[in-house]
Amino acid sequence: MSEPRARAEELDSADELAGLRERFVLDDVVYLDGNSLGALPANVPGHLDDVVRRQWGELRIRSWDESGWWTAPERIGDRIGRLVGAAPGQIVVGDSTSVNVFKAVVGAVRLVKLTGEDRDEILVDATTFPTDGYIAESAARLTGHTLRPVAPHEVPDALGPRTAAVLLNHVDYRTGRLHDLPSLTSAIHAAGALAVWDLCHSAGALPVDLDAHGVDLAVGCTYKYLNGGPGSPAYLYVREEHQDRFDSPLPGWNSHTDPFGMSSGYEPAPGARRGRVGTPDILSMLALEAALEVWDGVSVDSVRTKSLALTDFFLECVSAYVPEGRVECVTPSAHAERGSQVALRCPEAGQIMKVLIERGVIGDLRHPDVLRFGFTPLYVGFGDVERAARVLGEVF
Ligand SMILES: *Cc1c(COP(=O)(O)O)cnc(C)c1O
Repeated sequence: MSEPRARAEELDSADELAGLRERFVLDDVVYLDGNSLGALPANVPGHLDDVVRRQWGELRIRSWDESGWWTAPERIGDRIGRLVGAAPGQIVVGDSTSVNVFKAVVGAVRLVKLTGEDRDEILVDATTFPTDGYIAESAARLTGHTLRPVAPHEVPDALGPRTAAVLLNHVDYRTGRLHDLPSLTSAIHAAGALAVWDLCHSAGALPVDLDAHGVDLAVGCTYKYLNGGPGSPAYLYVREEHQDRFDSPLPGWNSHTDPFGMSSGYEPAPGARRGRVGTPDILSMLALEAALEVWDGVSVDSVRTKSLALTDFFLECVSAYVPEGRVECVTPSAHAERGSQVALRCPEAGQIMKVLIERGVIGDLRHPDVLRFGFTPLYVGFGDVERAARVLGEVF
């Protein structure tokens, strides 16, 4: 047996999270794309069947109360709160990440405006997943602000008396680089601005600690590391101290203090509910709620420990199997700067990923030349990691 194979066996037998894989529907492919679409938790189909047949099919409209549909966005928000270090009452689930970026960025600049300060600039991560940048640009235009793209590490120098808000990603979707949320948030606060974080690639993969680090607003999706299913609803965090003044740019009837009063005047609800817009997408929402049960009894710290062990081991196996100089790792080697994925740059990455997928190793391509492998500690093991690197080595 080759050395990495023996090592994988040792690591798998010492892995205290190994048993969690049984909570998912998986086969013998190596699934390293859970940072794009998490695997299906095994309890979801049965739960959705109940939601559709009994809650919708039999109880019909009664389910808004009796099955807890109406309160699902806040209830599930609290469940996500446990995974991102937010006390109950600050997260609401609904809409897409894109829509929540809009609410958060406009909400942040409106909060700043209420202080009476004349700040007219929004900073945005220049390397961001495109939708965040597009939405931030529109938010800036609508609110009469200037949008300035800056690399996250340059944010401290770019901050100034004009900065109203800063939109950053906790983990870069392409390189897997983890940004320093605590120190960037405090630099933003020291400049008198508000920090909006996108947690799409960190929630469910590593500790975020929103409350502890004083984050003002945050958004994230639930179909990556939270396994909520394709298009499952995203979430919005509004720090408790800002909630009374949070002025949503999409004040739909669900966020009214008395939605069934059907009044023509808008009066915002207190708390997290103020972030709601329209009728929640209950089927996706409740699939997500069931999916979050896989986290029962699992600590985010243990997930982080395994995630780093998985990515370290992958890098070791890549060095062992892939001929020198064929790939360049663009993910930082320092643990403090690494999310839960490894991105390898190489020519003809598109063709290589195609062959990997044919051979049962599922990662993805980030155009034009990045092979991206996501490591989801709840269901990826060290044997998977060894096999992925071995197949990659054979492809070269
Ligand atoms: C995945 C991801 C999104 C997805 O946005 P949707 O509105 O859900 O399509 C947005 N931003 C970042 C940083 C992402 O990683």
